[in-house]
Amino acid sequence: MSAALRVAGLSKSYGGKQAVDRLGFEVRRGEMYALLGPNGAGKTTTLRMISGLLAADAGEIRVFDVDARADPIAAKQLIAWLPDEPLLYDKLTAWEYLEFVAGLWGVDAKSAAAQAEDLLKLLGLWDNRNDRCESFSRGMKQKAVLAGALIHDPKLLMLDEPLTGLDAAASRLVKDLIRRKVSEGCAVILTTHILEVAERMADRIGIIKDGRLLVEGSLGELQSRAGSAGQSLEDVFLQLTATPEAAEKASA
Ligand code: ATP
Repeated sequence: MSAALRVAGLSKSYGGKQAVDRLGFEVRRGEMYALLGPNGAGKTTTLRMISGLLAADAGEIRVFDVDARADPIAAKQLIAWLPDEPLLYDKLTAWEYLEFVAGLWGVDAKSAAAQAEDLLKLLGLWDNRNDRCESFSRGMKQKAVLAGALIHDPKLLMLDEPLTGLDAAASRLVKDLIRRKVSEGCAVILTTHILEVAERMADRIGIIKDGRLLVEGSLGELQSRAGSAGQSLEDVFLQLTATPEAAEKASA
């Protein structure tokens, strides 16, 4: 069975500075993959290229059976993209926002209404569905954007820092929704600086630095790569990304 996402040789430079450097990894169906790395490692650039928002310089991106660089529109239909700085239309109510986004995707009105109701209830926004987004707290806005990202029933969820700024209750709702999507067979790739989240939720973890994949695997596999059995992901992460020598050794 093909992977949900396959990236190979992916590269991007900004004005001569290499942000993503021949990056390759796969996310399987029904898998949650955490893409971790220090600030500036190239995570957001990678996700933006996969989502078709940014043109890659080189490399291959396959989303299920679609060549995303050759057919970005077909790939986008399969993808949910939650950016780290989401944009909402403040004057719309939550319900109107979801109707609007569903319309952009060409989802028929009946399915859109059913999806919107399901998502708003799951995210605890049902009672606020007729409130304008401008009245929402940051966490409520983030949840509304997540609902919008899922309205067209995508199969690959790409979530850039989905839990930043959420309180414990909101964070739990979002995590439950992500888990539910995985159990339904979706693939998820998420970035986070909250390493406990990756440790607890991800099936596999990829650590990148300077645009390159250093290591990849389950927590156990990463621990043995770092020679630190039983240590937390935070310890392993800090150890592997501390120095160029450690990074070199890890990726060898
Ligand atoms: P963070 O964890 O801080 O969000 P990141 O891993 O998501 O970081 P990116 O935002 O992908 O990293 O940035 C990778 C590199 O590319 C950084 O050196 C950054 O300064 C650079 N970069 C990103 N976007 C641009 C841009 N639009 N123009 C120029 N350089 C950019």
